[in-house]
Amino acid sequence: MQISFVISQELEQEESEEELGSTKITKVSCKGFKSFQRRTSIPFYEGLTAIVGENGNGKSNILDALSFVFGRRSSRLRAEKLEQLIFNGGESRKEADFAHCTVYLDNSSGIFDEFLEEKDEEEQDEITIGRKVTRAGSSMYKFMGTNCKRSFLERVAEKANIDPEGYHFVRQGKVTEIVEQSDTERREVIDELSGVKEFDEKKEESEEELTEVQED
Ligand code: ATP
Ligand code: MG
Repeated sequence: MQISFVISQELEQEESEEELGSTKITKVSCKGFKSFQRRTSIPFYEGLTAIVGENGNGKSNILDALSFVFGRRSSRLRAEKLEQLIFNGGESRKEADFAHCTVYLDNSSGIFDEFLEEKDEEEQDEITIGRKVTRAGSSMYKFMGTNCKRSFLERVAEKANIDPEGYHFVRQGKVTEIVEQSDTERREVIDELSGVKEFDEKKEESEEELTEVQED
């Protein structure tokens, strides 16, 4: 039996003065997605959440569900086409018509308030983002249960410093890869994780701009 872990930790903090806030994933729920025929919800607790199970019983599919909602393309979700993400019925069950996943993000700090409609008088301690694909070929993104543009969810993720293509989602085998890397390569990973890389890039950009200005 192989054991895999899905780890939920508090995601990075926004450090600008006027808007201190942080978030964490509190729950993922799937219906008709990969091996999840019926609606299945996986809660993430404070600190570390480990999901343990035998080979092939859907641990990595949970990470795929998270990546799916954050807009990753099918090739990054271990499927050739989006349609292959929909529960296929296996040998004896009926295939699903659609796959729908929802990610619940903590909003107790109010970090996502700017995305909530003003008419939402009550404070929302949690927000949801979701994605649905149908066998007929349509793909929808959702914010608080309502259809929205993919770019809207990208702004939501950006607000919480979540980079779906970065190291917030570490795939199976990636840890071994990182452990076996050279010191320099590993340093790059750590820089990216800690946000130093972004700072370095901004610094480089500014220096370039400065040089341009000086040359003018
Ligand atoms: P391991 O411990 O080997 O890494 P795992 O628990 O991570 O296993 P997953 O890769 O998450 O397992 O799940 C693989 C299972 O998901 C397979 O049994 C596969 O048949 C099933 N699966 C993938 N796509 C679909 C689909 N569209 N419909 C139904 N089942 C699917
Ligand atoms: Mg796996």
